[in-house]
Amino acid sequence: MTTNLFESFNGVLKSARNLPITALVELTYYRCVAYFADRYTKARADITAGERITAYAKNKFNKWEKKAPKHSVTVFSHEDGLFEVRTPINPNSAYRGNHRHEVNLRESTCSCQKWQVYKIPCSHVIAVCKYQGISAMRYIDRCYCLEEQVACYAPRFHMVPDSVHWNEPDFPVLYPNVRCAVQKVDQDQLSF
Ligand SMILES: [Zn+2]
Repeated sequence: MTTNLFESFNGVLKSARNLPITALVELTYYRCVAYFADRYTKARADITAGERITAYAKNKFNKWEKKAPKHSVTVFSHEDGLFEVRTPINPNSAYRGNHRHEVNLRESTCSCQKWQVYKIPCSHVIAVCKYQGISAMRYIDRCYCLEEQVACYAPRFHMVPDSVHWNEPDFPVLYPNVRCAVQKVDQDQLSF
């Protein structure tokens, strides 16, 4: 929920290019081990510091919480958890403000779609929660809980034993033809 997975892996494996296959696999493996260890340590440190949710979710929530007091709330159905939220006119905003949004607490939806997409209550939902006297934090999805992040990055990689301790393979092992490799090097040198 907090990172673009492809970009993250590109970042992790940036230098794993143009290498022999064993080195490539080894580098990928060790980069992943380091990545997981780093994320795990950071999440544990945040929990120790008294945090409960990720910084990403907290920042988004705080940003939207600041907008909430300017909204006005109308109850449409207490029973079904339906509310209309109006935003004030805002000439500085790209959307100019003055909009109506439909919040459905029971279905966990807001017509602005942010709640459904981010799984963090938008300013309209926060306004409804304040109006109702309930904590909007409870609607932040569990995927942003630091405990979940710790569980995601909990160490589970195994160390690769030194090759001298490996079992004898029960399949034919193919080795490169050393003489061909030497000839190739000679040719490359000649071509310069
Ligand atoms: Zn909304």
